[in-house]
Amino acid sequence: MIRKTLLTFICLAVVGISQVYADQYPSKVINIVVPFSAGGPTDTVARLLGQAMSSTLKAQIIIENVAGAGGTLGAARVAKAAPDGYTLFLHHIGQSTAPALYRKLPYDALNDFAPIGLINEVPMTLVAKKDFPASNLKELISYVKANKQKVNYANAGLGAASHLCGMLFMSAIQTDLTTIPYKGTGPAMNDLLGGQVDFMCDQTTNTTSQIKAGKIKVYGVTTKKRVASLPDIPTMHEAGLPNFEVSVWHGLYAPKGTPKDIVDKLSKAMQEALKDKNLIQRFAELGTEPVAQNRATPAALHSHLKAEIEKWGPIIKKAGIYAD
Ligand code: ASP
Repeated sequence: MIRKTLLTFICLAVVGISQVYADQYPSKVINIVVPFSAGGPTDTVARLLGQAMSSTLKAQIIIENVAGAGGTLGAARVAKAAPDGYTLFLHHIGQSTAPALYRKLPYDALNDFAPIGLINEVPMTLVAKKDFPASNLKELISYVKANKQKVNYANAGLGAASHLCGMLFMSAIQTDLTTIPYKGTGPAMNDLLGGQVDFMCDQTTNTTSQIKAGKIKVYGVTTKKRVASLPDIPTMHEAGLPNFEVSVWHGLYAPKGTPKDIVDKLSKAMQEALKDKNLIQRFAELGTEPVAQNRATPAALHSHLKAEIEKWGPIIKKAGIYAD
């Protein structure tokens, strides 16, 4: 009897302490880990979201770029972080492709994270350096096939969206090309602008302003429909590669074990942020838009991630691409 009362007392005390902790959250700076370099598309989404969430949560949010190994270094870091709500993780579709691409992933992509919500979906664009000798997709394909020894394309490492899109492109044209891996497509874009690499496939959040300024060439968008902010750019399907579609989604996570009240608070703040006028406008200029509010939830991100892991696993295994 005494033991039972003591146990009940301890349980109530623990619940009480964690409630007080959640009520006081956030009381210090929140870090959002981005697994790619600063200045790239994932970083851009994180900074816009972080800024909007920061005003709702009334807390400072800083972005920490932990780049390398196609996003898996940042993920590994967050999987081991304290589950106190002060270290979060913003990653894209790569969270779902890494389990099949990396044989020795030091974390469980589905179960070592507490999902907070889906953020947005972004089209990709196939782009090349300005003086690349091909003015449309069909010319690009013929040129690349005829010059495969000297053509190269940039990506952000095995597991990056740019890697996935490049892999689908090479398989669609049945040609293997030399890839140049970066820690993010921010620095890859600098080299594309400088002419050090030939082409890449990257999110509109990184390519739109360079396309509009005429600093790079663009051959197609990877969505079923054209993108409102780039109305003159054909879809890859229209340009000559039937059914070539890739869409990059982003999610926000905390480490597994983060108290539910804190996860819920973060999810609500994220939903508010996705209604922010400035964020919506910037997203639209960059060719993306927030997901519907009912998808910006822990349950929606969990089921989306699970479905994407199940979708990409067999495709990647069949392609025989992996890292040890
Ligand atoms: N766009 C990159 C990718 O290919 C990542 C980044 O730099 O944000 O996944």
